[in-house]
Amino acid sequence: MKEATNEEIMSMPDSLLTGIDKQKRFCLKMALLKSPCPDCKTEQNMIEAARIQINEYSFGHKEHTYTCVNTGCGRTLIQIVPMFSHAPWFWALA
Ligand SMILES: [Zn+2]
Repeated sequence: MKEATNEEIMSMPDSLLTGIDKQKRFCLKMALLKSPCPDCKTEQNMIEAARIQINEYSFGHKEHTYTCVNTGCGRTLIQIVPMFSHAPWFWALA
């Protein structure tokens, strides 16, 4: 069986997802959450800030470079995953 693409994983019913796919979907949901750039406050998710398509998201196998989507800002962003916070992650400036 061929591996489902990220796009397929997001649209498949739960019953069809393998354990790995469920983990991937959780990561994709995290990646698709929007967080504001600390500089210009533009809300953006990790896919947008990495300038990639959802199917290119690599689940940490490959480092993505994140840059603010606001061309007037364009700051390099770093994803911070706090241990205890209401937000699962947020952007910090490089
Ligand atoms: Zn910005």
